[in-house]
Amino acid sequence: MGVRINGRDVVLSLISAINENKAWLSEIDGAIGDGDHGVNMAKGFNMAKEKVDDAGETLSEQLKSLGMILVSNIGGAMGPIYGTFFMRMAKPIEGKYEIDENDFKSMLESALEGVKKRGQAEVGDKTLVDTLEPATKAFAESVEKGLSFKEALDKMVETAKKGMESTKDLVAKKGRSSRLGDRSKGTIDAGAASCYIILKTLAESIEKTL
Ligand code: ADP
Ligand code: MG
Repeated sequence: MGVRINGRDVVLSLISAINENKAWLSEIDGAIGDGDHGVNMAKGFNMAKEKVDDAGETLSEQLKSLGMILVSNIGGAMGPIYGTFFMRMAKPIEGKYEIDENDFKSMLESALEGVKKRGQAEVGDKTLVDTLEPATKAFAESVEKGLSFKEALDKMVETAKKGMESTKDLVAKKGRSSRLGDRSKGTIDAGAASCYIILKTLAESIEKTL
């Protein structure tokens, strides 16, 4: 049985989480990038705040609207990538008022596939894929093993954190910081960090309804 999720509340929680972590995300990006990731993300997510009342009732409609706004309003590399992320997340639950763990598994898998196709990044390239791919796999495996929705979400968040931390020792292969070569080692990736924040916030807002 699925749970009814208020899509508007989910998107508002994401917007708050990005705003709360804006300075941190820009600071991380400053170490090996140009220091604008938090600012870019906050700008895009705050645009979505203005549309949240008109975006629709279902989680799918809300995520799709967020994705469409992000594509055109996040500057830098991440607009098309996070736009794809949320639009692809919305797809498997179109028209649904309730979602269960199998729906969320499909949402994560759809987002991962879209992001990898869009950015051509693989695990090990020091991008958000280092957070998203292991987190998606951990969630899917937990569901397949018969764990509850909550247990699977907790596993996802735990694994996302490890994925984010794993980027510290990696050399960037994509985006601006790849120009630094070996000097990109020693600090975590900004996109991997924002992806962790997003997955953690999604988990928290779903867990509230479980
Ligand atoms: P910019 O690099 O244009 O300043 P941001 O600072 O907003 O953009 O985002 C940087 C993040 O974008 C990186 O930390 C990395 O995670 C992500 N990124 C860059 N290129 C790619 C790509 N091809 N695929 C996936 N993620 C990418
Ligand atoms: Mg940047």
